[in-house]
Amino acid sequence: MTGMQNFDYVIVGGGSAGCVLASRLSEDPEVSVCLLEAGGAGRSWMVQVPFGMVLTVPMPFINWCFRSVPQPQLNGRRLYQPRGRVLGGSSAINAMIYTRGHPSDYDAWAAAGNPGWSYAEVLPYFKRAENNTHCRDDYHGTDGPLPVSDAFTGNPMQRIFLEAGRQAGFAVAADFNGEQQDGVGVYQVTQRDGERWSAARAYLEPNLSRPNLTVVTGARAQRLLFAGRRANGVQYRAGGRLGTVSARREVILSAGAFQSPQLLMLSGLGDAESLRRHGLPVVQHLPGVGANLQDHPDYTVIYRARSLDLMGASPRGILRFAHEIRRYRRQRRGMLCTNVAEAGGFLKTDASLPRPDVQLHFCVAIVHNHGRSLRHLWHGYSLHVCVLRPWSRGRVMLASAAPGAAPLIDPAYLSDPRDIEVLVRGFKLARRILEAPAFAPYRIRELFSAGAQSDADIRALIRARAESIYHPVGTCRMGQDEGAVVDAALRVRGVGGLRVVDASVMPTLIGGNTNAPTIMIAEKAADMIRARSQAGARA
Ligand SMILES: Cc1cc2nc3c(=O)[nH]c(=O)nc-3n(C[C@H](O)[C@H](O)[C@H](O)COP(=O)(O)OP(=O)(O)OC[C@H]3O[C@@H](n4cnc5c(N)ncnc54)[C@H](O)[C@@H]3O)c2cc1C
Repeated sequence: MTGMQNFDYVIVGGGSAGCVLASRLSEDPEVSVCLLEAGGAGRSWMVQVPFGMVLTVPMPFINWCFRSVPQPQLNGRRLYQPRGRVLGGSSAINAMIYTRGHPSDYDAWAAAGNPGWSYAEVLPYFKRAENNTHCRDDYHGTDGPLPVSDAFTGNPMQRIFLEAGRQAGFAVAADFNGEQQDGVGVYQVTQRDGERWSAARAYLEPNLSRPNLTVVTGARAQRLLFAGRRANGVQYRAGGRLGTVSARREVILSAGAFQSPQLLMLSGLGDAESLRRHGLPVVQHLPGVGANLQDHPDYTVIYRARSLDLMGASPRGILRFAHEIRRYRRQRRGMLCTNVAEAGGFLKTDASLPRPDVQLHFCVAIVHNHGRSLRHLWHGYSLHVCVLRPWSRGRVMLASAAPGAAPLIDPAYLSDPRDIEVLVRGFKLARRILEAPAFAPYRIRELFSAGAQSDADIRALIRARAESIYHPVGTCRMGQDEGAVVDAALRVRGVGGLRVVDASVMPTLIGGNTNAPTIMIAEKAADMIRARSQAGARA
């Protein structure tokens, strides 16, 4: 793009939320929409072939590769925080698991002063987004843009995991997004015919020929522009040069839970005192910007194991893999369709709880240090366990007023002591499943945690090895109180012409994976922006 350009809507960030918005808003031929994305178009095989995530999650190809500040409750470690830097955003590098959380998560949003966000009111938007090829009932949509499907790997280890779960005393859940979330099961994935379907592929690519939609890749927003108290444009950097786009109606920030609050602060919206410390002019004092950061803290129990159905780089594993490449080319089936975390579950660590408090992700590989270690070349399996509704709250802050600097990310993991106790109980559940007879023919030995027996041992292990399972939210929280950043219509409080629409607006972290909920938020936001009533969404 050259010179100054005018649009009705300018969206910053082409991730899970931004792609939905760009597509839905440009359905109206009367308005013009511009989407600015810092990364590229993402047409690489690493995005399309699900197995490509073993490269894109650990490495900086299309990934911002952030790190947290040192975490006092995790032995001062700085935790890895991958985020997609490409059209599709984190949906282009994620594990493709399609879950929505628990109905009570959304009822809690509404009860916290966010009218319109109860489960009954958001379900139509989940359904509107969804094109589920297997589940056909009142909980699912079948003709939305986002393909959701059963796994294409046919990996027998899924059955072994379910059997082990049964032997450990848990029910098998037929559909984590249906009537009953509790139990172990195989995840549905955002894939079509064995290929990843990111938000870009689902929402954006089919509509790129619309004359009223302009998508600019390689354009990193530096700050939002204001006329008085109204946002009216965005300054961005592309190819080493600064450019400007103006927005006649609205600027919509969809840069994700780390970078939406960063951009607000760089633009003068945030805690006034800390903005002044960075030499930034204050447009609006909003102390909640960057606060309320929540993420799922996670521990992974790992076993070395014998089976060629488990990924590994042994000589026979490599031969098998060569065969799987040919199979994928011919049929789009088999091991290259893997989302690694093929099965899992939602369990209660205490039977008296009203809903599950931990989630499991069963991986058909050794997943250690986000796949950034040579250990994952051995055959084995891993079982992640994470705290679904952590009590701890962290914060995203500015490291500097330079737009090119990474934000300071402090998730404050386990800063509330209740979280580690849930994780200790979750660890024991996970180990109970992996020790069940169904795994006996495969099991070689437990890595890292074999010696941990007492609660004190397990706590020490968690402090030494817990990581993020990649679900940061809440840093531009919606609500009505002083600490809220946006209202229930996702408008930034105190200024005009500006909304935030992405995972950062969640007031509390939902009990599940966050991609489908973010897409739901953007679907609902598009309706609000177009001032359509919810009647427009299929009930
Ligand atoms: C490794 C990994 C695995 C995951 N696995 C799952 C899973 O299996 N299932 C699930 O439901 N969820 C999963 N998630 C989480 C889920 O993908 C995210 O919650 C969701 O994608 C967040 O969407 P978003 O729109 O808020 O942000 P993002 O999708 O991250 O989009 C933000 C976009 O903004 C762009 N951007 C940022 N700053 C700027 C700027 N200044 N200018 C222009 N563009 C900018 C970024 O490049 C990015 O494209 C995973 C996440 C990761 C990282």
